[in-house]
Amino acid sequence: MTTLLLLLSLMTFKPIQPLTPPVDYNVHALIETHQHHTQRQDRLLTILNQKNPFHSTYDPNITLTIPIDDPYALDAVINRLHVLTHEHEPEDLVNLRTLDSTHPSQLLRIEAAQAFLQLKAAVLKDLNLTIEVRSGYRSFATQKRLFNQYALKDGIRLANTYSAFAGQSEHQSGLSMDVAEQGSSFLAFGSSLAYPYLQAHAYKYGFILRYPKDKSNITGYIYEPWHWRFVGVELATQLKEQGCTLDEWWIHSSK
Ligand SMILES: [Zn+2]
Repeated sequence: MTTLLLLLSLMTFKPIQPLTPPVDYNVHALIETHQHHTQRQDRLLTILNQKNPFHSTYDPNITLTIPIDDPYALDAVINRLHVLTHEHEPEDLVNLRTLDSTHPSQLLRIEAAQAFLQLKAAVLKDLNLTIEVRSGYRSFATQKRLFNQYALKDGIRLANTYSAFAGQSEHQSGLSMDVAEQGSSFLAFGSSLAYPYLQAHAYKYGFILRYPKDKSNITGYIYEPWHWRFVGVELATQLKEQGCTLDEWWIHSSK
């Protein structure tokens, strides 16, 4: 049965749409640095030659991107449409370790860092579990390097379902974080007892689950129980009450 479903899904796979990348993206240079051309890398080159760096959920009618008015705004929407420039690096980044000596070295904007440590304290008090930020701020260059690694492993289209192009990642804002239970992979966070706790209480500290399970067609990314975004208590409460994503909120807001 599973094989049949797989065959059916392959047969209905959408043809590749030609698109222009929204940011300078030199995967060719990356591939040239690799000594051995595997079959997978050859396939990747073929896709690149067809100028199709996007996942099929990306709207082929949208080839333009919108610069973000205020990248410091707590409600700044950062996604495939709204991109950060390569120069953007928040000036108020702080290392969580300087605020909490037990926390691993990770950067966040000060307001998000303080809120996370309050949430961490609440989880410890109520569940006797320790959570931590496994990946906070990532620069444009770091994101580019990271995406390149994923793209070489899985191909650009698949990689872009779980990893963003540089400029399109919320991690560059310093307001997003991949959360893990201490001693576990962040990929396992969905099965941690801390996860339902965050789902119920994180909004009180200003955090939202950015890529929920049933919203992949809107966010463009797979369900990521580990990825939380700081938007401030007021907006987090509003989004929680309305059950909508930041992308949906933007559509209905005047921004
Ligand atoms: Zn993330």
